Amino acid sequence: MYDLIVIGGGPAGTAAAITAARVGANVLLLERGRFPRHKVCGEFVSAESLSVLAELLSGDHTSLLADSLHIPRARVFIDGQVLEAPVDPPAVSIARIDLDAALWHAAELAGVEVRQQVVVQSISGCGPFLVSTSAGEFESRALINASGRWSNLNSRAPEDNTPKWLGLKAHFAEASSELSVDLYFFENGYCGVQPVGSGRVNACTMVRADIASSLSDVFTLHPALRQRSAAWEPLIDPVSTSPLIFRDPQPEQDGVLQVGDAAGFIDPFVGDGISLALRSGKLAAECLRPFLLLNASFSEAVHRYREAYVSSLLPIFRASSTIRRALRFPPAIRRPMLRLLQRTPAMTRYLVSRTRQAG
Ligand SMILES: Cc1cc2nc3c(=O)[nH]c(=O)nc-3n(C[C@H](O)[C@H](O)[C@H](O)COP(=O)(O)OP(=O)(O)OC[C@H]3O[C@@H](n4cnc5c(N)ncnc54)[C@H](O)[C@@H]3O)c2cc1C
Repeated sequence: MYDLIVIGGGPAGTAAAITAARVGANVLLLERGRFPRHKVCGEFVSAESLSVLAELLSGDHTSLLADSLHIPRARVFIDGQVLEAPVDPPAVSIARIDLDAALWHAAELAGVEVRQQVVVQSISGCGPFLVSTSAGEFESRALINASGRWSNLNSRAPEDNTPKWLGLKAHFAEASSELSVDLYFFENGYCGVQPVGSGRVNACTMVRADIASSLSDVFTLHPALRQRSAAWEPLIDPVSTSPLIFRDPQPEQDGVLQVGDAAGFIDPFVGDGISLALRSGKLAAECLRPFLLLNASFSEAVHRYREAYVSSLLPIFRASSTIRRALRFPPAIRRPMLRLLQRTPAMTRYLVSRTRQAG
């Protein structure tokens, strides 16, 4: 009987597992994939989570943060205009192939029992739990689902009539890159471009599947992006993911604490998904702590997490969906709004701050 089983070894799952193991809990972390691996992501790690990340990576991996590029500026290319805003404090750019492998290793160092290439097939019970996997059955007093946005454990199917959205990413060689996260918006999608060090840029898009199905198609959808990407050389095979669905966040289901994208998927243009994953993973383990140390009941711990999630993380989802809706206004309404933002940087900074949480 483990104190805690965590399903999924991304940022949310490793944050939860490391935090619980450091208070002495007996933790099993299960991951269906194998690290290192590329992952569809803009690789923009917002400043709000850097102290959490440093704490989780303590020891061996702090150089990952120290050596990563700082991103002090954001540029939004939309409707023929360029909206520019400082990213203050700066974000960092960390390739997921490095970030996720480092967090996985940090979990191992923290004393978590880590298992890769184990697929969780089903869950039963509502505390204690029985977890059935491709490598047998395991039991635990508490369970955290960190299996990401779209997994076999996510029972919320998409509605039939919603358009299908797709995520694509690859790294390219670019002769010289500005230290900026650049978002190129076009009808029914956008593509983010950001340097990731050593003469590489990451290009990552979210696009409606009927508009484009490859990065080369996407690059033709925005004139400035078409021009910029013309000289790029691909450095990795592209990776893809779908569907991308936005739903109301759900931090708990039948006693299972849900963290990161498994709880709620935030629109990637906000660049806060990794931060929310790290923070919600840590928060869930902290809320479970009194239960794991036999000082509180399971239902008290679950209640504490639900309340903490709703008060500290839910407002970020609300702000980002408001901005997403505004970006889908017809161009005739959107353009004057953008011109206003261009002229009033304080308003732009305020909007960005609404999609962030306190550090
Ligand atoms: C196009 C796009 C661009 C993005 N850009 C950014 C960005 O620039 N900055 C940012 O902060 N965020 C970005 N995000 C969001 C970010 O990638 C996610 O929010 C983040 O990865 C969530 O972490 P997680 O740990 O919750 O899930 P994941 O990172 O998805 O990890 C879940 C893990 O669970 C494992 N798993 C799934 N099912 C099972 C199972 N049954 N058994 C065992 N293991 C299982 C998976 O293999 C996976 O490793 C972007 C997302 C997309 C789609």
